[in-house]
Order: sequence, then C-alpha cells, then structure tokens
Amino acid sequence: MKVFHELSGTKIEFSVLLDEGEFDGERKYSGVTEFYFDFGDLNPSSIHPDKIALVAILNLLPFAKKSIELMWGVSERFTEACKLISRVKILSDEENIVAHSMGSLNEIPCISFSGGADSTAALAVMPKITECVFLLRRENSGKTLYDSDAAKESCRKLTRLGYNVHMVETDLEFLRDPLGFPTDLAVGSPAILLSDVRHYSSIAYGTILESAFGTSGARFRSYSDSSHYKLWSSLFDAAGLGYSLPVAGVSEVGSTLICENHALGKVHQSCIRGKWGQPCKNCWKCFRKNAIIAAIRGSKVKFDYIENIVKSKEVRMKIFNEAPIKHEGVLTYCIAKEGASEGEAMELLSDLVRVGKIPIDWMEKWYSGSDYLIHESYRDEVVKNLERILGAMRPEDEESLNKWENSNNEEREKILHLLEESLF
Ligand SMILES: [Zn+2]
Repeated sequence: MKVFHELSGTKIEFSVLLDEGEFDGERKYSGVTEFYFDFGDLNPSSIHPDKIALVAILNLLPFAKKSIELMWGVSERFTEACKLISRVKILSDEENIVAHSMGSLNEIPCISFSGGADSTAALAVMPKITECVFLLRRENSGKTLYDSDAAKESCRKLTRLGYNVHMVETDLEFLRDPLGFPTDLAVGSPAILLSDVRHYSSIAYGTILESAFGTSGARFRSYSDSSHYKLWSSLFDAAGLGYSLPVAGVSEVGSTLICENHALGKVHQSCIRGKWGQPCKNCWKCFRKNAIIAAIRGSKVKFDYIENIVKSKEVRMKIFNEAPIKHEGVLTYCIAKEGASEGEAMELLSDLVRVGKIPIDWMEKWYSGSDYLIHESYRDEVVKNLERILGAMRPEDEESLNKWENSNNEEREKILHLLEESLF
C-alpha cells in the first residue's frame, strides 16, 4: 500500500492507495482508505516526517499485505529501525531527511491518557508538568459499546487540577473490522503527532505488569526480549521520542491501590461503557474493579462473585470460555484477600483460580526490574513515587512473579465443569 498525508490547519489526514488484491477481507482490514486526526484548537504546523511515518506504521502495519510505501522521505535512522519489521517491507521517498534530535532532558513528559485506572495511576506517579493527550474516538453510531462521557469528564477534572490536557479526535478505529485500534500502541498516535509542537520528550502509556510481563496469561515473559518491545521501542527511539511505561512494574491490583491512595485517583473511571459516575456494573472491567475495591477496602458488604457471574453474560464468557481466564491472578488476589463467602459455587471458583495455592502479595508491590521502561528524564521521580506508594517487591515477591504460570489442564477443566453444573 502507498500512504500519503496532508497537514492543513488543525488537521492531518492520511490516505492509502491499495495494491492489487490488498483488500482481500483478511487481517481484519475494513477497506477504509482515509483517516484523520483533528487537533481542535492546536495547530501542529510542522511535524517531523519520521513521527508521521511512525503513526502511519502504528495504524496500517496489521493491514498491509506486502509493503507500506511512505510517499515522503524519512531519516536514515528511521529507515534502519524499520528493518526490524519482517512481514512487511517499509519503503519511503529518496529525500534525505535529518533525524529528529533526541529531546533534551528538560523537555515535557507526555502521557497517552485514557481516563482509566492504569493511565491515571501512571499520571499520578509522573512529574506534575506531564501533559495528557486523549484520543477522542469519532462518533460511530453505536457500533461499539464504548462511551467517551466518563473519559471526557476525567479530562475536564484534570484540566481543573491544572494539567494541560489535549483532546484529539480521530476516526482511526474505522480502519479495522470489527471497529477498534489497529495496534495496541496506536492510541498514542495523537500524542506522537503533537510531540513537536508541545516539545514532548517521550510518550507514556498506562501499560501494566499483566500486559508487559505476561502475567495476565500463561506465563511470565521478559518484556525486553519480546518482539513487541524490540520493535516499538526502536521505532519510537528512531523517531526521536522516548517510549515510556511508568507502571509496567505495577499489577492491576497495584494500579488500583495507587488510585485509592493518591488524590489524582479521583479523576478516573474504569468502565468505558457507563456515563461518569454510573459504571455499567455488567462488563468484565466492572467485575474486576468491584472485586478489587471490595478486597482492598475490606468492605463490610462482600462482593458477590456468583451473583455477578450469573447475571452477566460477558463475565460468564470470560470465566468459562477463556482457559485460563485473562487477568485470573486478580481474582485470586481478591478472593484470597476478602475471604470467600460460603457456598459450593464459591468454593469451586476459589479452587479454579487457585486461592491459597499461589502467592499473591507480590501483586501489591512494584517490580523494580521494570525501571528501564520508565523514560530516563523522569525515572528517578517515578521510582521514588512508586516506592513510596506501593513499595518495591522483595526478592521472594520477584521470585513469585518470575515463576508465574497459569495454564489449562485436566484438573482445571474438571473444576470448571463442576462450577458450571453448580450454577446452571
Ligand atoms: Zn462496566
């Protein structure tokens, strides 16, 4: 595919010319050939070509069949980094572009802010001068359950607290079918495009331990050895931007603890379907959130796992169709902390998620082996904040983390079957 871009006024528009047979109904590509970013009251009059290229790749890489031909020139440094992409060839104009000089340490940190607990926790431990960039999804006539109401309210609250928050509207979700972000880091596209005009040294994401180090799934992984890290950190670097994950050493339990213990926590809402202050109480996020809050606060009224599983189809699908359940460790933590209520079904659920069989204390602490993922310009400050709010993992905690494993087996299948029988 060939990619063009046009920057005019407050907007940048990308357009794509497809190669013969490129739109073949595969790779979740919708066939849409244009997407835009609207910066509202900001006018990013010039954006470094490497940064525009990075955004094009973040949004089009999954859909390209053989190549992405950037119809503008990029630096040699960026061209070199693109060689890490093996499935698709990245080509560009011959034009000789000087690479973006790496930001000095005095430049401004930025976070791709979503309004959820994880990015709020990240912002809470970052320097106070951090700017937030929120990706506002273009209206999609109810094609997804996402509602931006709560996130916009989070942004308004941050503005009132003195933060610089920029909302950038885009229709990039329409590139994919079903609707959604082409890559997990595409959500940072608006922040990347604003980085020249706002002098950002790095873009932070609210990626947490479960995603970076694999503990939402089957086993612990060394993130620095993953192809995800190698590719994207290199491309960001080549474009002259730091790729920063301030809470990559913090689990979902930890990010909730930060939101509970830091004043900034008040500005977030986990549920992305309900209005502000009115979470839907039906989605998988609400289920986990309410379980963690009950466990952390030691509420008198216990969280009713069984009732919530029975009433929500989405939660049932997660429990019974994913083996193991994504973020299963969070449930283990919550049930262990709160103490399981009585009943056969609850006992089976506890067995299923291995309550009492696996250590959970490490989930409350910060994994210091993730410090290299925090941008150097503010690393010390973030580390200090994380140590103060959560405390660093002890050697035995790190051992529990490193040994994290959760795979399906016969025993697990048996318990799951019994649980299903006892519920329905
Ligand atoms: Zn919800």
